[in-house]
Amino acid sequence: MGCKRCQGLMISDAFIDVDDYSGHLWLGVWRCVNCGEVTDLGVAQNRRRQRSVVSGVIKRLRSRRRRVRRDLALQLSA
Ligand SMILES: [Zn+2]
Repeated sequence: MGCKRCQGLMISDAFIDVDDYSGHLWLGVWRCVNCGEVTDLGVAQNRRRQRSVVSGVIKRLRSRRRRVRRDLALQLSA
């Protein structure tokens, strides 16, 4: 995984969130070794999931468009 800001190497790291009154909470993050950009692991996973959903929709639309063109070509040739 590359950094969004500088395309540098991202490594998995852990931070402690101390804002929670019930105690500290370890957060899994991706941290860029080049510029220090930090991305929450959950955010990164959600982005990946959204990207795969969008690419699935695009694939379905493209195959539907191909099917419509093929049907039109068949109708025109008949
Ligand atoms: Zn970076």
